[in-house]
Amino acid sequence: MRTSYSALDTYRTCPLKYKYQNLDKISAPKRIEAVFGSLVHSALKFMFERGPLYPTLDEVIDFFTDKWNKKSESIEWPNPDKKEEFEKLYFEEGVKIIKNFYKKNQPWKFNAVELESRFSVILHDDEEDEDHTIVGIIDRIDKDPEKDEYEIIDYKTGKKMPSAEMLKDNLQLSLYHMALQDRWPSLPASKIKLSLYFLKHNEKITAEKENPKEDIEKTKSFILAVIKEIKEKEEKSNFPPSPSALCDYCGYKKICPMWSHEYKKDKPETKSEEQIAEDITEFFEIKEDEEKNKKRLKELREDILAFMESSKVARVFGTRGFITKNVQERFSFDMEKVKEVLLPEDKWEEILSPDEKKLNKLLSFLSAKLQDKILSFRKKKEFIVLKQTKK
Ligand code: SF4
Repeated sequence: MRTSYSALDTYRTCPLKYKYQNLDKISAPKRIEAVFGSLVHSALKFMFERGPLYPTLDEVIDFFTDKWNKKSESIEWPNPDKKEEFEKLYFEEGVKIIKNFYKKNQPWKFNAVELESRFSVILHDDEEDEDHTIVGIIDRIDKDPEKDEYEIIDYKTGKKMPSAEMLKDNLQLSLYHMALQDRWPSLPASKIKLSLYFLKHNEKITAEKENPKEDIEKTKSFILAVIKEIKEKEEKSNFPPSPSALCDYCGYKKICPMWSHEYKKDKPETKSEEQIAEDITEFFEIKEDEEKNKKRLKELREDILAFMESSKVARVFGTRGFITKNVQERFSFDMEKVKEVLLPEDKWEEILSPDEKKLNKLLSFLSAKLQDKILSFRKKKEFIVLKQTKK
């Protein structure tokens, strides 16, 4: 399996959301919180990019403003009637975050060695003897040249800020730790610091790992267990919804069965049972007329043709129009003779096309082994048929 930290995190939050997002690949409307987070992230990346000088605070704010003005129009706002008000609030919040962050973290005081660093780690599942690839992006990696230490920093734009104690078991940081160790195996685990930066609070919290090596092993087993669980759920096609306060930020809320009651109004109205009973009566009446009309049309056609032949005329007139007898020509080929000509030219195969009707006919003449083999290639197609039964 190829997966990412964010996909695994989505699965742990809500298996149904994971299915919508990663298996069904249903694209969800972008929530403003996600767009806001990604624009602040790109502004902070820009801040640490030297070219050759670090950008000033004004330049970072200009960068953010420019990106903000170009953001997609298809954002889902919590309250569309107050879109402009929300837009202003989010923009001001972004500028405030950047200002405060810049003040506390002048880029020239840090040695950012990688920004938005992509990683890919292969985990081997010994039980199943298979490899899984976990990919991700680390926001920033700093190096302290004096202590020869590295620091992984991930930015968070959410409000919640956990304690350092809680961060000990943070899966994201442990996974990033594992990724860096995988990239630079000679680097001792103790030389890598793991931090989350909570931008709204302008605070960085560093995880205190007592035994980093053991933690990496625990992380590996945990991720493999989650992957195993996902694969089992995939086999049974069983991804239950897990409603929580996070549903308000979920782009799939409108299609989620847990919230269908809230969106009933959006559904097209269907007829009542009484109206459907009337429709069925009309359906049968039309069907009966159709059969009667078909039969009568055939009789009329025969009478008209017989009259034309006996009167030796090619056109007859009525009060609502006229009918003309036309002789149409259709050609058909003598395929045996065509085959004789095309076969030596190696062109015969080109006009042969697969025919399922013929295949069905042929099946009963084949051996059981061949029948089984061909039947294993069948694909099931479902279509809706309305079958009418008269009382
Ligand atoms: S709305 Fe809530 S329960 Fe439904 S898919 Fe999203 S997170 Fe899961």
